[in-house]
Amino acid sequence: VVVVSALTFRILHGSRDLAMALVDMTQHFSYLGETLRIIGQPHEIADAPEAAPIVPHEGEVEFLDVAFAYGEGRKVLRDFTLSIPAGQKVGIVGPSGAGKSTIVHLLQRLHDVQEGELRIGGHPVVGLQQDSLRAAISVVPQEVSLFHRSIGDNIRFARPNATDEEVVAAAKAAYCDDFIRALPDGYDTLVGERGAKLSGGQRQRVGIARAFLKDTPIIILDEATSGLDTQSEIEVQSALARLMRDRTVIAVAHRLSTIAGFDRVVVVIEGQIVEDGSPKDLRRKEGGIFARMWSLQAEGLSMDDIAASMIEPS
Ligand code: ADP
Ligand code: MG
Repeated sequence: VVVVSALTFRILHGSRDLAMALVDMTQHFSYLGETLRIIGQPHEIADAPEAAPIVPHEGEVEFLDVAFAYGEGRKVLRDFTLSIPAGQKVGIVGPSGAGKSTIVHLLQRLHDVQEGELRIGGHPVVGLQQDSLRAAISVVPQEVSLFHRSIGDNIRFARPNATDEEVVAAAKAAYCDDFIRALPDGYDTLVGERGAKLSGGQRQRVGIARAFLKDTPIIILDEATSGLDTQSEIEVQSALARLMRDRTVIAVAHRLSTIAGFDRVVVVIEGQIVEDGSPKDLRRKEGGIFARMWSLQAEGLSMDDIAASMIEPS
């Protein structure tokens, strides 16, 4: 703040170079702000002194008798046990407030569990260095943040020391290369705030390209396919299908069609698993919750409507 004030003061006195410097700095600040928001780790989680610098290469995920509450609040998860073998694709569904986001946040260790244990590749997450944990998990968010930088740098953000060739390979894998080459300056085109506007589907594929570049054994999908037109949806789905190959995937799904081809669906209500099985089996289950969700969605009900009907059964 002091530096900016000093600069502003001098700009007011007519230095054009400094004005340019300030513009540049503001852009860096907004880049930094975005970066901090994305990395956004709460400060309460610190590495244990003996934390191991190992990056789990195996994507096995285990929640063992986990209990968790936010602060002094009620338990959001209770006796929560979920073992996911490496490479399995799991969709988590349930009404709003069930604890779905909390599950994937705990996996990223944005909070620590109060009871039980969470392990990745056999390692308790509390014993891993946070950098190691971050190097094991990629999150493909619904809303991909773009910085006011080149599109190439926006992809490279996932692994800053990646070469140009690696960035292009990740873009190709995520079906981004064609649209990027069609931009005015190709990979050097500025995007973000005042840069070229990307469509919703293009932004999501940039998010997927970042995940390819990071190349982690575990992928978290946060409702990655809502609100796109059919063509964009097909492109995003193709990119995702490629990304998911040979990786463990945990998807918080808003649309059941997204997880129809998954290995497994876990239905969570009030922090507990009430159904667990293949989507095929659960769809056929007499009186099952997933079966009901499936038929309601087939009738065109939104996930929110379905959630409401699940809380107050008619
Ligand atoms: P879902 O993703 O299934 O909608 P969440 O995991 O976001 O559910 O939330 C589970 C419960 O925890 C809800 O009751 C929610 O209000 C509460 N909750 C979520 N995040 C916080 C937080 N940061 N602080 C306090 N309570 C929270
Ligand atoms: Mg949520």
